[in-house]
Amino acid sequence: AGAPVTVTVTGAAGQIGYALLFRIASGHLLGPDVPVRLRLLEVPQAVKAAEGTAMELDDCAFPLLTGIDIHDDATAAFDGVNVALLVGARPRGAGMERGDLLSANGGIFGPQGAAINAGAAQDVRVLVVGNPANTNAWIAAQHAPDVPKDRFTAMTRLDHNRAVAQLAARTGAGVEDIARLTIWGNHSATQYPDLSHATVRGTPALEVVDDEAWVRDTFIPTVAKRGAAIIEARGASSAASAANAALDHVRTWVTGTPADDWTSAGVVSDGSYGVPEGLISSFPVIARDGELSIVPDLEIDDFSRARIDASVAELVEERDAVRALGLV
Ligand code: NDP
Repeated sequence: AGAPVTVTVTGAAGQIGYALLFRIASGHLLGPDVPVRLRLLEVPQAVKAAEGTAMELDDCAFPLLTGIDIHDDATAAFDGVNVALLVGARPRGAGMERGDLLSANGGIFGPQGAAINAGAAQDVRVLVVGNPANTNAWIAAQHAPDVPKDRFTAMTRLDHNRAVAQLAARTGAGVEDIARLTIWGNHSATQYPDLSHATVRGTPALEVVDDEAWVRDTFIPTVAKRGAAIIEARGASSAASAANAALDHVRTWVTGTPADDWTSAGVVSDGSYGVPEGLISSFPVIARDGELSIVPDLEIDDFSRARIDASVAELVEERDAVRALGLV
């Protein structure tokens, strides 16, 4: 085995953190041959809980886990980081306005971006899971002027995986038979799960489904509102599936997308598809040689155009609000 990869997880004592850390340590992030050193970042009041999780990680005697450090300081937590998973965020409280939510998260993701800028490894890859994920990733990137902007990404892989599962269930196909599905826009209720380029065993998904009403009135809202449905059923938000998607996102980034397929990720826009340059929006994305790139030149029909524009408009509003609040 080579030198250990340093993986920093913020919000390590939270629900998603608990579902994530054991799988990272057992090789599900970077594969069974890559040793991992974990750095856990938490707010001071949650450090003790993170220590408890670290004790359990020790007790698993994972052969790949070479060390665990626990921090309440971002500068130390991101020192030498190769893979940064930014999970901890300020949740929306009762009666909280959007401005309050953005301010609270600006106070978290701005300093974390600066700490990544100061201490991360050359090859750092950043995935933001904590909501509002796209805008939090954008804030972090603005505070890291020396890190290439394309290293900052936001997670829409869970939405992508949910969409794959829904389409597979509807068509009686296996999840491995589904390709070229896309989540566009913001990781929020305005996201657009797009079947117009998707295939089921190589046949256009819209032909296989042959039911516009199902796509519009069932598929799209089911994917977009799946988080709320899980809270309703479980009495707690999705954690294991979110952690699984985070692992998928990073593993795909590092090892690549299959030929003839792509994935979905929030990445910095180069102006493609009418998404303002610089915004972190979800796109169809190919991973090759450790780099992500937006799939070019897809045809966008009128239905898709309106949905993409609506979600991107929300991202523009969030960005403008963050600027107006002086958070960048
Ligand atoms: P979770 O671990 O359940 O969620 C963490 C974040 O992930 C939330 O912002 C949540 O958004 C988001 N998220 C994104 N996608 C999903 C999804 N599909 N399902 C569920 N959540 C999703 O939160 P906990 O409250 O259990 O834990 C958060 C931890 O973060 C706490 O231990 C807290 O102390 C820590 N924290 C650490 C910070 C730091 O390290 N500096 C800063 C702030 C908090 P949403 O709220 O919209 O569900």
